[in-house]
Amino acid sequence: TKIVIAIDGFSSCGKSTMAKELARKIGYVYIDSGAMYRAVTLYCIDNDLFENDTVNESELQKVINTLQITFKINPESGKPETYLNGENVENEIRSMRVSDKVSQVSAIPFVREAMVAQQQALGKQKGVVMDGRDIGTTVFPDAELKIFVTASPETRAQRRLDELQKKGSNVSFEEVLDNVKKRDYIDQNREISPLRKADDALLLDNSKMTLAEQDAWLIAQYNR
Ligand code: C5P
Repeated sequence: TKIVIAIDGFSSCGKSTMAKELARKIGYVYIDSGAMYRAVTLYCIDNDLFENDTVNESELQKVINTLQITFKINPESGKPETYLNGENVENEIRSMRVSDKVSQVSAIPFVREAMVAQQQALGKQKGVVMDGRDIGTTVFPDAELKIFVTASPETRAQRRLDELQKKGSNVSFEEVLDNVKKRDYIDQNREISPLRKADDALLLDNSKMTLAEQDAWLIAQYNR
């Protein structure tokens, strides 16, 4: 039996959609590690820990281990939602103001250390599908199945734009593309566990795949 499935890759490449669908089909728990970094970032924004675009790291370090980040399934949609210190922050963490700053916050070593520890604890549950940037390389280097997903920046920006517009945002394609590229750059070039494919991860470029094709590919890998 497979215990941990790690799905890593670039921003907005549909990792969470495929991870969620796989978890649903095989009865595993889905964990969105990016939501945790987004929740920390929202905390920084809302508590004035940003000063001229830099994070007040000593203040953040004091509270990082007190932040309670949890997931609860919304009974109506059946989808997991993110809570920060008991408050539902699912919509807020997906906003551009958080996307703009999240890669900066997640490059801070003590932030990663705290999140990785929580993710590893969550992985002790039986059967977990976790998506992120460093799940196969750092969080669960022994994961039984590792996937690394990619697609062209334009494809990813268009998908992200569609999602944001569905939620009523009037952000432009250029703004989203710029954010996707910027996060890719910071995520790949940070010093601590940069975004990269684990040697034993399977590569999936889904630029030209439909959701159904992608889901079928993933379940086939799981069943191999
Ligand atoms: O997956 P998502 O796009 O929501 O992640 C938001 C950001 O959080 C990423 O751009 C990256 O900076 C950070 N992240 C990370 N490590 C993870 C998951 C996300 O650094 N495992």
